[in-house]
Amino acid sequence: MKKRAAGLALALLLMAGQFGCASASAPAPAPTPAPAPAPAPEPEPMETLTVHAFSAGAADAFLLTTEDAALLIDCGEKGFGKEIVRYLEDQGIERLDCLIITHFDKDHVGGAAKVLSEVEVGQVLQSNCPKDSSAYKKYVEALEEAGLEAQTVTQTLRFSLGDAQCVVNPPAGGYEKDESNNSSLIVTVTHGEDRLLFMGDAEDERLTEYLAVHRDSCDFLKVPHHGRSGKLSNALIDTVSPKIAVITSSEEEPEDGDVVSRLEQAGAQVFLTREGAVTIESTGSGVTAKYD
Ligand SMILES: [Zn+2]
Repeated sequence: MKKRAAGLALALLLMAGQFGCASASAPAPAPTPAPAPAPAPEPEPMETLTVHAFSAGAADAFLLTTEDAALLIDCGEKGFGKEIVRYLEDQGIERLDCLIITHFDKDHVGGAAKVLSEVEVGQVLQSNCPKDSSAYKKYVEALEEAGLEAQTVTQTLRFSLGDAQCVVNPPAGGYEKDESNNSSLIVTVTHGEDRLLFMGDAEDERLTEYLAVHRDSCDFLKVPHHGRSGKLSNALIDTVSPKIAVITSSEEEPEDGDVVSRLEQAGAQVFLTREGAVTIESTGSGVTAKYD
């Protein structure tokens, strides 16, 4: 028994030597790979935010739309309301989630009565400086007929428009000059990395108030007060440094050339609604614009 056991042990030693040498030079067996972590899901692309700047003369009307939300900022003069209604029909938009009247000058509220009488509107936001004018009276009557009560914005108000966040900045009031224009609601829209700024007809006192608190740059600027130059125009342009600027002007009431020059010096691409309607698209990571 002992001999057989010794012989078997020797055979095992020889086998170990034979195969042991070979296995020493072979690569170590690869460790079983750990299961690869699941790749992070691609972030969902943002829906496009489109801004349509109507060619409404020296008057404002801006339609902001996402896949299923719509916001109208101002309505142009009386007589332009039907153009807005027609455009909404062409686009298949039956409802405005929100209508903002930045202030009550006729080139902003004039077309509102027609829009309110023809289109379902979810919410109306307005400035706090009513006017004794026929355009204002017709707007108030149209609100009543539509069963709507406008909300006068006196504190910063925020709401969502699809993927975008809108902030409505109210005027402080107590302006010495140009009370109606200076009472403009200022609307900022943040869409991903893009920032769009709608300044209404803000003049120097309102711009001073705004710039004292807000110093962020923007991708798109609705230039205040139809591109009229004021003491604070350069300060605004230099601070917000827009990539794209739209001026609502007409042949009869053109923008001031020095405002356009300053915008261009700041690197902005400038569009004038007196040359046609403008469509601006924000993807959330960049803004582009073109004449329609
Ligand atoms: Zn105006």
